[in-house]
Amino acid sequence: MSKSPIRFTVSATDGFARTGLLETRRGVIETPVFMPVGTAGTVKGTRFEELEAADLDARIILGNTYHLWLRPGIETIRAVGGLHRFIGWERAMLTDSGGFQVWSLGELRRISEAGTEFRSHIDGSLRFLSPEVSMEVQHALGSDVVMVFDECAPGEAAADEARRSMELTARWAKRSREAFDKLQDVATPGDLLLDQNKVGGTLAVPVVQGGLSGKQALFGIIQGATHLDLRKESLARTTEIGFDGYALGGLSVGEEKEVMWEVVGEVAPLLPVDRPRYLMGVGTPEDLIEGITSGIDMFDCVLPTRNGRNGQAFTSLGKLNIKNARWTRDLRPLDESCSCAVCLRHTRAYLRHLYLSGEMLGSILLTHHNLAFFLDTMRRVRQSIRSGQFTQFRREFTERLSTARDADD
Ligand SMILES: [Zn+2]
Repeated sequence: MSKSPIRFTVSATDGFARTGLLETRRGVIETPVFMPVGTAGTVKGTRFEELEAADLDARIILGNTYHLWLRPGIETIRAVGGLHRFIGWERAMLTDSGGFQVWSLGELRRISEAGTEFRSHIDGSLRFLSPEVSMEVQHALGSDVVMVFDECAPGEAAADEARRSMELTARWAKRSREAFDKLQDVATPGDLLLDQNKVGGTLAVPVVQGGLSGKQALFGIIQGATHLDLRKESLARTTEIGFDGYALGGLSVGEEKEVMWEVVGEVAPLLPVDRPRYLMGVGTPEDLIEGITSGIDMFDCVLPTRNGRNGQAFTSLGKLNIKNARWTRDLRPLDESCSCAVCLRHTRAYLRHLYLSGEMLGSILLTHHNLAFFLDTMRRVRQSIRSGQFTQFRREFTERLSTARDADD
């Protein structure tokens, strides 16, 4: 039997919620997992040492194909030995396909069967992204999990538009798989570095003792907007091609939240039980809990970093706006039940002062706490699933947030 690039084992379940281990060539990841987003080769406002430190301990981060392809460009990434080497991160990385970013360009793009033509947001030059190009870029980046190149329909897309988009995604998934498989015979600079342990960062996570192929893994993406029949058809067509993991794409793109949860609740439990399930671009802490309830294993979102830069902290008692005058002399940490480095050291009064003074440290510290809160919430979730108390955890978590939210506003 041929070796696979990742191994996924579910160790405990509670309803549809599940916890397990995702073993990659760059370390073991406990699931459910939250993946901080490193758009342009940086998780904004955070040093890699902090991501590796015990209070965050991020095992996997995201890299962004669209952004890195446009700048610094793939030739540069190749020349410096792949993305891991370039940014100094030795743990696992997942790259998106660029499909979503190109879709977000709206009027600036033109979609054909071959791929998507668009203008670069950096210099206005005409660029072309296709399944083959996306696979080549992600191969050069050397990420550990590669995403197929897909097309995303708007959240409220009508059935015919959503069908066209879903069918195109299915054909692109097949082309992605073929292009990806061919590329896996060619080692990337990043692959070569794997054995040499030369990247600046610390792995400091258990490494898989053999049994894996050492290659990149490829995930398929289920589309179909809010139409359950299309989602199910997309699921059948995607699993028929066969991937190492499966993602739900095209959600949280403008549709009502209840509609999104209906789709996730219906579709996630139908995904292959022995493969990781990834809900792309979602969400708030409440969203993560909701997704986990439906059996999702992986999440990514810019919220902890973006909101941190905008002066908003996520806490166990809801969102906290650090600009608020009521914190002027408040000696409490951001979150009294958080033990992150920021909450152990700094007061709301100080963080507010930094933020209002335009000091960059304000954004940095809020970002750190937010990431710690998301990652720690996932740790607690995993524990609760293992001890069969996820339902209780979920109830307490959401009740605390909804009671407190009213108090903060
Ligand atoms: Zn904290």
